Amino acid sequence: MSAPRTGGDPLALVRGDLAGFGGYASARTAGLDGDTWLNANESPWPNAADADGRLRRYPDPQPEALRDALARLYGCSPSQLLAGRGSDEAIDLLVRALCRPGGDAVLVTPPTFGMYAVSARLHGTPVIEVPLLDTGDTFAVDFDAIERVVAAHPIRVVFLCSPGNPTGSALPLDRIEALARALQDRALVVVDEAYGEFSEVPSAVSLIDRQRTVAVLRTLSKAHALAGARIGSVIADAGLVQVLRRCQAPYPLPAPCIEVACETLTDSSRAATAAGVVAVVAERERLHAALAACAAVRCVYPSQANFLLVRFHDAQAAMDRLLAAGVVVRDQRAADGLQDALRITVGTPEQNNRVIDAITAVECKQ
Ligand code: PMP
Repeated sequence: MSAPRTGGDPLALVRGDLAGFGGYASARTAGLDGDTWLNANESPWPNAADADGRLRRYPDPQPEALRDALARLYGCSPSQLLAGRGSDEAIDLLVRALCRPGGDAVLVTPPTFGMYAVSARLHGTPVIEVPLLDTGDTFAVDFDAIERVVAAHPIRVVFLCSPGNPTGSALPLDRIEALARALQDRALVVVDEAYGEFSEVPSAVSLIDRQRTVAVLRTLSKAHALAGARIGSVIADAGLVQVLRRCQAPYPLPAPCIEVACETLTDSSRAATAAGVVAVVAERERLHAALAACAAVRCVYPSQANFLLVRFHDAQAAMDRLLAAGVVVRDQRAADGLQDALRITVGTPEQNNRVIDAITAVECKQ
């Protein structure tokens, strides 16, 4: 008798043609020991600009210290975590490992982060949309519609974004878990938590041990202020993590980025990051209240992230005023249903005051 299946088997969702695929065997993965390393065609001398020779060698593909620190940060085991070049790379790896090019599809919930569709398109993978429901107060995922659509199409990956970009709304964990359970034989449910640190809703990482077809994306780019270091993580079933690693570039993490990331994950740096998050959340609420009171603003959605989605009576006039004040925000008007909307990142108190002053000065033509 076979063992009862609990929580799905993510390996059953991996592309069949990748069964047994070992990926690239790099000089570092051979696991040999010695004191004279002549196996990777590196230079015998450091570059003149690299005084202490830290960059002469290829970096460890998945340094243990970094993986351990990230796993502690996100509350998973190191074997459940793969670090890579931002969560952008994790999105790409998931599409490539799970979707047969030209065959399987991914599901996205627009308006949402654009890289899910970009990665799919580049891989020859169709993108099927189940739009968010705009209740007027918030954006909600249509979980029932997702179930129906996945039942009718060969969808392998469902991308959820929580808190959502650009909506700012977070998804309830019980609905995510129920969806993943309902889809467990057909699709992996990926929860992109790039903005998770700013949210009151707990992380979906806690679901993975009992629902193995959930994967979570995290990043050091937002709350940790390391967008330039390009360190993102996918947290998933340990077997799936091994498959993704085999699909990844041989040396995905540059040595200086590994070093700075490890430094920012010490207790004292983490405390400073947490204080920064508290400050951003307080500023987000202040900015929300101030913008909601502006005559030019039609509505400001509540946000669990570090930005606000704002609808205007005249979004062009708002954009012009902001630009005249030197403030650049993200234009959302090309997105379906957001023809009057801008997304404004929460800045320093002084920067937020400039936003408030500019929007207050917009003439209102209702
Ligand atoms: N997911 C979401 C929702 C994002 O908004 C972003 C960046 N804007 C990313 C992922 C990618 O982040 P990174 O590659 O820097 O980790």
